[in-house]
Order: sequence, then C-alpha cells, then structure tokens
Amino acid sequence: MRQITLGKEGVEKNIIQTLQEKSGVRLSDCYQCGKCSAGCPVAFAMDLKPRQLIRLLQLEQVDEVLKSKTPWLCATCQCCFVRCPNEIKIPNLMEAVRQEAKARHIIPEKDIDKFNNLFLKNVEQFGRSHETFLMGFYNLTTGHLFQDVGCAPKLYFNKKIRIRPHVVKNKSGVKRLFQKTIEKGAK
Ligand code: SF4
Ligand code: SF4
Repeated sequence: MRQITLGKEGVEKNIIQTLQEKSGVRLSDCYQCGKCSAGCPVAFAMDLKPRQLIRLLQLEQVDEVLKSKTPWLCATCQCCFVRCPNEIKIPNLMEAVRQEAKARHIIPEKDIDKFNNLFLKNVEQFGRSHETFLMGFYNLTTGHLFQDVGCAPKLYFNKKIRIRPHVVKNKSGVKRLFQKTIEKGAK
C-alpha cells in the first residue's frame, strides 16, 4: 500500500483536530472578546495571552503555540472558563497543548514540567500530596537547593507541612486510577 505523507499543513490540521478532541474545545466558538485574558491572574507572565493562543490556533499557527510558555504557566484556576461568554474550556485546551508539546519534546518550562511530574508521582505514591517530599525533590532535581528552605520551619511549626507522609487508606485504588489513566492515554 502506498504510504501517504502529510505536508506541514496536514500535520498542523491534525494537531488542531487532536487538541480540539482532547480538550472538548471548538476553536471556532471563540469570537476574541478577550475576557479570558483580562481575568487571567498569570497573563502578565505569559508570552501569549489565552485569547492570542486561541487566535493562533484558529489561524493554524501551531508551531508558535507549541513553543509558547503560556500552557506551562497556566495555573488551571478556571477563571477564564468562568468569564468566557461561550464557556470555552481554556484550561483543558492548555493541558492538551502541554501534552502535545511534550510528545514532541518541546518543553519550554523545564522546572514546571519537573514539578508536575513530581507532584503526580507524589500523589500516586501516597494518595495525596506530601509537601515536604515535593519541595525536597523539586529543589534537588532542579538544582535550586535552597529555594524556599527558609519557609520550612515556620510551615512545620504551624503544622502546614509534615515530615512523615499522610497516606490515604485506599492507596492501591489510587495506583489503579493512575494505571488506568496511563493505559487510556496509550490507546
Ligand atoms: S473569553 Fe471566550 S470568547 Fe472571549 S476571547 Fe476568551 S475564549 Fe474567546
Ligand atoms: S486557567 Fe490558566 S489561562 Fe485560564 S485564567 Fe487560570 S491561569 Fe489563566
């Protein structure tokens, strides 16, 4: 059988289709009012505001979106979704872009990626986040050895962090959830 090779345009169309399917966002629903960007608490640090990111995808400018720091800085706070008159699920779209970029080894914010991975490992291991583990391993793996270390005693004495992890009862259930998610993602 003759193999059909997609040109750049075809690949971009495919990526856009995948992003829409994964996020449940129909890009054409956005009429560029900008309410999402105006309310986003992290917009000041983003290289593309949420509205601009959607516009670029509408114009099939996929490369610029995949290289953007914006999806990595998104805090998934849902503010944009709540403000959007068309209820466009921008946080889902940000997550889909992050996954798509990562699959192509495009990781513009490596420390954030490390933090995300450690956080998930942490929850998989204990069933909930163990902040001491998270802070310690994040500092070690990123080389920011003393970042926020000064806050640790105060947090400890105010019982905001613990030395020993608080493990949930159904730890194996949480592990199964992770396994199922990994299997679903591999399909
Ligand atoms: S608030 Fe909604 S419609 Fe307006 S620019 Fe943002 S995503 Fe588009
Ligand atoms: S979910 Fe992300 S993009 Fe939306 S307002 Fe929050 S930080 Fe900004």
